[in-house]
Amino acid sequence: MALSGLQIFKLLPKTNCKDCGFPTCMAFAMQLASGKAELSQCPHVSAEAAAELGEAAAPPVRKVTIGAGEMAVVVGEETVLYRHEKRFEHPPGIAILVDDSVDDAAFQQALETFKGQQFERVGQMLRAKLFAIESADAAKLAARVKKASDETGAGIVIMSEDAAALKAAAEPIKDKKPLLYAATSANFDAVAGAAKELGVPFAIKAATLDELAELGEKCVAADYKEVVLDPMSANLQDALRDQTYIRRAAIKKKFRAVGFPTIAFPCRMTTDPLLKSVFAGVFVAKYAGIVVIDTLDPAQVLPLLILGQNIYTDPQRPMQMDQGIYPLNDPTADSPLLITTNFSLTYFTVAGEIEASKVPTWLLVMDTEGQSVLTSWAAGKFVADAIAAFVKKSGIEEKVSHRKIVIPGYVAQISGELEEELGGWEVVVGVREAADVPRYLRSL
Ligand code: SF4
Repeated sequence: MALSGLQIFKLLPKTNCKDCGFPTCMAFAMQLASGKAELSQCPHVSAEAAAELGEAAAPPVRKVTIGAGEMAVVVGEETVLYRHEKRFEHPPGIAILVDDSVDDAAFQQALETFKGQQFERVGQMLRAKLFAIESADAAKLAARVKKASDETGAGIVIMSEDAAALKAAAEPIKDKKPLLYAATSANFDAVAGAAKELGVPFAIKAATLDELAELGEKCVAADYKEVVLDPMSANLQDALRDQTYIRRAAIKKKFRAVGFPTIAFPCRMTTDPLLKSVFAGVFVAKYAGIVVIDTLDPAQVLPLLILGQNIYTDPQRPMQMDQGIYPLNDPTADSPLLITTNFSLTYFTVAGEIEASKVPTWLLVMDTEGQSVLTSWAAGKFVADAIAAFVKKSGIEEKVSHRKIVIPGYVAQISGELEEELGGWEVVVGVREAADVPRYLRSL
């Protein structure tokens, strides 16, 4: 049973020291009760109080880890329904389905493709990290699970109706935390027992939300914490409803029986490859913890990964670069000098176009708290006096022999004032769009 803010407050030190980032212990207690703060933010809470607060402090959607090391996928720990309320914590894991329709040669090819498939975007490496392996043949299931785990390091979702087959396939790789999929009302004790014995997470599935909640109650009663829910939604409309009900009940009602991340199978909701991608995108947005697809086509995998990256970025902390001088394409003292802001997306777009141009260039990146050019200009951060102060202290004057700086076309209006502030520099208005940078640089 979740505790109220007042009940939590009674267990806190009541010193109002503000070390948790909140002005008072009461304010912290209220945030903790609503799932918008974590107990670990208060460094002064006693061990006894921490134990008592354990249930209240647990996130409304439990954390589940599948896989190990660099390939570990952490899902759950979500505390809000909408990203703007705070942030979403963990982007969904993308799992590649291999079932009995995939022959051995195609399976081997999938492993090879999987190993080499990763994408860099705004300084982060993105990739699918899970395989979902299903077979009605226990020996084949065990062999494929072991092979996929050994050769790729991926986290494995092991899929079978047979609890003994699940256990046998999971046993050799139990240290890599595979997910057993799935316990039903018919085999709950056997699957949950195997998961407990091996120390691995397991999924529960049911055709209705009521049945799913009943299985969830059993998990809560038995203190199984690493559980994944499959509402087995028949179509996209039902799926969106089910995912929303589950998330809403977990967060708004603190209904622990459904307070676990979910798994979704858009690849089994349609045969149209394009629709499969669209459906998968819906699950990335709302609210699956694991999205199972049946392709490694980069044209379908990459958009899902980017969607997850975009949605799961903390809206209060834009991805940003360090302020400084970035030499691109081995610039010399005569090379042109451009300036932009430290919003990661801006930096990587501009830097990528400069690199593609092959023109040696200096890129000055100014700290605007991760805001883009126009936003930071509107916020008074990327304006003439601030830019001039930054240019002068950046050290660029020791690196270039000229005194000419190119500003983004979107802030053409500050060119005159910036020239005055800089004194002795020529300020040139560049292009608006990064895509035009190569043409512009070559024309200089
Ligand atoms: Fe109170 Fe702990 Fe926050 Fe200090 S850190 S104000 S003791 S809740």
